[in-house]
Amino acid sequence: MDCGEGVQRQVLAHSIGLGKDMVVLVTHLHGDHVTGLLGLLQTMSLAQRRKPLDLVGPPQLLRWLQVTSKLLHVGLTFPIRFTPVKPGVVLRAPGFRIRAARAVHSVEAYSYLIEESGRPGVFHPEKAKALGIPEGRLWSALQKGRTVSVHGKKVRPSAVTGPPRPGRRIGYSGDTRPSPRLARFFSGCDLLIFDSTFRGSDGDKAVVRKHSTCIEAAEVARKAKVRKLVLTHFSARYTSAAPLVKEARKVFPAVMAASDGLTVEVDYPPS
Ligand SMILES: [Zn+2]
Repeated sequence: MDCGEGVQRQVLAHSIGLGKDMVVLVTHLHGDHVTGLLGLLQTMSLAQRRKPLDLVGPPQLLRWLQVTSKLLHVGLTFPIRFTPVKPGVVLRAPGFRIRAARAVHSVEAYSYLIEESGRPGVFHPEKAKALGIPEGRLWSALQKGRTVSVHGKKVRPSAVTGPPRPGRRIGYSGDTRPSPRLARFFSGCDLLIFDSTFRGSDGDKAVVRKHSTCIEAAEVARKAKVRKLVLTHFSARYTSAAPLVKEARKVFPAVMAASDGLTVEVDYPPS
C-alpha cells in the first residue's frame, strides 16, 4: 500500500519477496506515496520477475509510470495489470477483494479496504457420523462448503457445520482528513491503518494540509468500532511517535504506532 522512496530496499530488508503474487495499491499522486514505485518495479525486473503485477491507483498513475519508464529507458520483465481506482470494488482475487472509497486530501485520493473471503462454519464430526456420512472425502467436501450425496440423499454443509465465519478486514486511509464516510467505510474492520500526521495541538496544521491528527484518527476508529488501530505517516517535526499514541489512547485504547518492519497479527473476528 503506497510506495514511498526506497520501498524496494524495505521489501528486500524484510524478505517480502519480489516474485510473489502482489497487488500494489496507491492512494494518491504525492511524491512520498509514489516515487518508490519505479525503483520497486526495476528491482523486480532485475530479479527476473515474470508474474503479472496488479497495480491499483488514480488514472494519472499509469501515465506517470509510462512517461518516466520511457524517459529513463526502463524495460520490465513482467506485465502490469493496471486498474484505475474508483469508489467500490476495485479488485477481486481468490480469497479476498479490495474496495476503495474517496478520501479527503489536497488532491484526488482514496482509502482502501482489503476484505478476506468468509470461511465455512466449524465442522461437527458427531453430526456427520449421526447422518451416516463416512469419514474421509465426503467430510472434507462438507468442510469446504460443498453439498455431498450419501446413499442417494443430499447433505448440505449446513447440516454438519456451524454458521459461516467472516473473514478479516484491513483498512488503510492514505493521507486524509477524518470524515463520516470513512468511518462508515471502515466500519467494524479488524485492523485500521490511519493517517496520524499531527498531534492534537497541531490540529490547525492538519486542517490546512488535509491530514489527520492522532486524536482524529482515534475518533474514526472509535466511531467505526474497529478492533485495532495503527497510526502512521508521522510528521518529521516529532522525534518520537510515543506522545501521539498516548494522546490517541485516551480516545481509542487499542492503538499502536507503525514503524519500519512492524508485523501485526490480525486475529479472526469473533463469529
Ligand atoms: Zn499526500
